[in-house]
Amino acid sequence: MTLPADYHMHTPLCRHAVGEPSAYAARAVALGLSEIGLSDHSPMPQDDFDEWRMRFDQLDAYVEAVARARRDHPQLTIRLALEVDFFPGGEDWVRELAGRHPWDYFIGSVHYLNDHWDIDNPQKLARWAERDPWDVWSAYTDRLRQAADSGLFEIIGHADLCKKFGHRPERDPTPLFRPFLETAARRGVAIELNTAGLRKDCREIYPSPSILALARELGVAITFGSDAHAPEEVGMDFAAAVELARSVGYREALRFAGRQRTVTPLSD
Ligand code: ZN
Ligand code: FE
Ligand code: FE
Ligand code: ZN
Repeated sequence: MTLPADYHMHTPLCRHAVGEPSAYAARAVALGLSEIGLSDHSPMPQDDFDEWRMRFDQLDAYVEAVARARRDHPQLTIRLALEVDFFPGGEDWVRELAGRHPWDYFIGSVHYLNDHWDIDNPQKLARWAERDPWDVWSAYTDRLRQAADSGLFEIIGHADLCKKFGHRPERDPTPLFRPFLETAARRGVAIELNTAGLRKDCREIYPSPSILALARELGVAITFGSDAHAPEEVGMDFAAAVELARSVGYREALRFAGRQRTVTPLSD
């Protein structure tokens, strides 16, 4: 099986990943991947916003580290990207970042439900106990919809990250994703199959099969990402991700260069 491009991986600049881009690339070559994309956590306007992203003055070093990986592994296609946090009102900052380097794509991710709660942060797990999961998932999916509608991103990251620690609503939350997925389809924004969920408490690819089936029904395109925070996680569980995509009817995925898409078939 030819594995799809792995479009989601990090670097030590975000302070919670290990391994230089060259090491991620070496792992991809060893696995037989033909294409990867580095998508480290983007800087915020305030460097002290949180402790899990690069500083703004490190952006050039990030781009240089990706260039070094390209020089070290000329047989591999390596895309230059960022995983950018979406905040309503923060659109100008994303445009500012977009103008600084020749990016291939931006993954827009919702980690923050408000300015103070990154819902996937294990240090803030206690917040979940104070909230009804349905309300959190509702607010989360509304931010996803806004991110897809912003026109700032090619791909929306880990669409049901709110399941990470297993705080699931009692009712089926799939319908909450419909407005987001309809917006993504209308705006031509892809979602990713992110295998990091398999390594978290939820033990499931992001997004769940029912959400992915709805995405397929509505015509939303897909990419694949391991969300690797270490070289050995590159391409992890990609066979399972391809099988999931195929099981709901996907036969192709997207690739990006210079923020322009191409469609490639999924292999059997
Ligand atoms: Zn991370
Ligand atoms: Fe993320
Ligand atoms: Fe990530
Ligand atoms: Zn991520």
